[in-house]
Amino acid sequence: MFQTLTSRFAGAFGTLRSRGKISEKDIELAIEEIREALLEADVALAVVESFTENVQNHALEILPTLQAGSNQAEAIYSVVNKELTEILGGGARRIRFAKKPPTVIMLAGLQGAGKTTLAAKLAKFYKDQGETPILIASDLQRPNAVNQLQVVGQSVGVPVFAPEPGNGIGNPVKVARDGVQFATSKLHSMVIIDTAGRLGVDAALMQEAIAIRDAVTPDEILFVVDAMIGQDAVKTAQAFQDGVGFDGVVITKLDGDARGGSALSIAALTGRPIMFASVGEKISDFDIFYPERMASRILGMGDVATLAEQAKKAFDGDTAKKLEDKFSSGEDFTLDDFLEQLEAMSKMGSMGKLLSMLPGAGQMKKQIENFDESEITRTKAIVQSMTPLERRDLKVLNGSRRARIATGSGRKVSDVNALVDKFTAAQKMMKQMRNGGSIPGMPPMPPMPSGMRGPGGAAKAPQKKKSKSGNPAKRALENGSIS
Ligand code: GDP
Repeated sequence: MFQTLTSRFAGAFGTLRSRGKISEKDIELAIEEIREALLEADVALAVVESFTENVQNHALEILPTLQAGSNQAEAIYSVVNKELTEILGGGARRIRFAKKPPTVIMLAGLQGAGKTTLAAKLAKFYKDQGETPILIASDLQRPNAVNQLQVVGQSVGVPVFAPEPGNGIGNPVKVARDGVQFATSKLHSMVIIDTAGRLGVDAALMQEAIAIRDAVTPDEILFVVDAMIGQDAVKTAQAFQDGVGFDGVVITKLDGDARGGSALSIAALTGRPIMFASVGEKISDFDIFYPERMASRILGMGDVATLAEQAKKAFDGDTAKKLEDKFSSGEDFTLDDFLEQLEAMSKMGSMGKLLSMLPGAGQMKKQIENFDESEITRTKAIVQSMTPLERRDLKVLNGSRRARIATGSGRKVSDVNALVDKFTAAQKMMKQMRNGGSIPGMPPMPPMPSGMRGPGGAAKAPQKKKSKSGNPAKRALENGSIS
């Protein structure tokens, strides 16, 4: 997400940091670089113009107060960060709940923008907060849309009001109206209406959206836009703004390698905040959009706040508490704890996505892209092939046990050895870290096998020791040449 933009920003700040005393000329050059980077990322010209003008004015304003050798570049960075946050809509806005439930949320946008997927994501998000949402299938156009909504609704345990089969059959306005009535009678606290899109903006699409809007007077109309459609995102947003109107924006597919800047211009151009962002196809790939966190991420400072929140969500309360208690009481981490952590990490989504939230992720682009996600599954398989005793006490792992574990998990003995070595090193690191700082709210994590590091930092695996065994067969097993 925005890797190119992030590395261009890093380049501009790198140059500023290398200056003894920053001059007006340096600021102008840095701003020119930023301007080019924003335009390349598809940020709308008008937004780029006002952004660079504001940054330039503020930067030149504070320039005389900056001392050579002090944090001049950081001061300029703060100016850029603040302006970028402004473009992205300033502070995060939340859904306005209806005074008298249900709160009615209508989704609008082009076909393929991700509305149906979003309906389920939103429903799950609010269900987890104690709401009782219901989904309404008013997209009666797109083939299979009704069925898809039923499937995703079921997957998150949320009912779906779908009296019509869709595929061109049924009246979407009536479905929306009846759906809201049904929701009210069944005391649902929230209604999320999926509406039809078209491949492009057309009059019929707008008419239908307007008719649904007028039939149910939603508390929130959310315009859903695919970040990958480039410059069209702004045009489409303006057409929906002029047609049906909307209260907030949801950007989807921010996980793509798209330039995405166009979608980011929408808040500035329409004056409507980006409220949520979707970063993948899975239900969990979704969050509130925080302009300040996104700005920090674009500027290469990572998004540790979101990372910590996701970790909190993934580790259920009991697991997190147990791990923290173990950590503070000085007890050893066992492979059972590690397994729980791996399970939680799988729940947190892809490792690439997690890593990309770390500060400096822009510079780790290649490593993140090349990260082998299946490594977690393979590591889990090794741990799961161990007996409870082995998981608790690695010392019992002699050659034959290691060979059995390797066979059981479909790995080589050398893989088992590597995991054991690294885990032993991690246990040591945990002990050392006991009084040190881990990410708040995030239980400490031992490093992953195969060169993958936990977000807590890098513990080096010990140098591979020579085999202690004098037995050649055992040595061969330990080296992984027999498996
Ligand atoms: P709709 O026509 O607006 O209802 O769009 P859908 O919800 O059917 O989404 C269109 C496609 O985009 C589906 O294949 C979704 O799985 C996919 N999709 C939705 N949101 C995201 C996202 O945030 N990232 C990615 N990569 N794909 C997404």
